Amino acid sequence: MRQKRAKSYRKQLLVYHHTFKFREPYQIIVDDQIVTTSNDSSFNLTKGLQRTLQAEVKVMITQCCMQALYEIGNQDAISMAKQFERRRCNHNPKDPKTPMECIESIVDINGENKHRYIVASQDIQIRRKLRHIPGVPLVHISRSVMVMEPLSDASARVSRRKEVSKLYEGLNNPKPSKEKPAEKESTATESKKPKQRGPRGPKGPNPLSMKKRKRETKADIDSSKNGMKSSLNDKEEGQSGTKRRRRKHSSQTKTSATDNSETKESVSGTNAEPAAETTDNI
Ligand SMILES: [Zn+2]
Repeated sequence: MRQKRAKSYRKQLLVYHHTFKFREPYQIIVDDQIVTTSNDSSFNLTKGLQRTLQAEVKVMITQCCMQALYEIGNQDAISMAKQFERRRCNHNPKDPKTPMECIESIVDINGENKHRYIVASQDIQIRRKLRHIPGVPLVHISRSVMVMEPLSDASARVSRRKEVSKLYEGLNNPKPSKEKPAEKESTATESKKPKQRGPRGPKGPNPLSMKKRKRETKADIDSSKNGMKSSLNDKEEGQSGTKRRRRKHSSQTKTSATDNSETKESVSGTNAEPAAETTDNI
């Protein structure tokens, strides 16, 4: 159950990440009530948030929420809240706003969660209000378990619209869509080309052809030494002949004896000829 919840939270946070551009460390606005609740149940608020959001968090409290805690006078809760970063709301400290008004003023900026805050609040009214603003993750403690609310209708609508626009962007706007894939393709081919060169490299100098060349060069040297081309031709013929026979040799075992004799003959023939040549030269 716990893992299931963690997975669904991770999924939800991916939506906030992609659609609303949330980035770690997440900035979390806590209200006075969640501070007192976690203090009363000795719940580690920061650790709970880290566990629930499975990420690094930056816990913040507004001046007005801090003021609300001072009014209650719960010293433990105050000292707990003092550990958090203070979010300046620029409301008059002598005439503080209610936590709801204060949090709404910093989260809802022209109907957008501009600063990408996650709000951790025990106040149902605050959460109800913030559900209308797309892209506001809401967290609260329920029976000493920290819970993240499912994606609000407003958030889900924006997320869906963005997905659809992404889909149709490529179909309706041919210019940007064509340019972008072309760039991607070019980069892809560029990235692919060196990759293809890698495997082609060993293919280029065919090991079989390289061996042949070496033999030819040796033969050339021999022929140059002997000063006759006919011996080279004989050798080449002999080599090709032996190769053909070797293939047969692998398939037909019975003819192997005769093959060997033939190869011997060819070798002896090549050996015999240079001897004859030397006599000719003399
Ligand atoms: Zn304020």
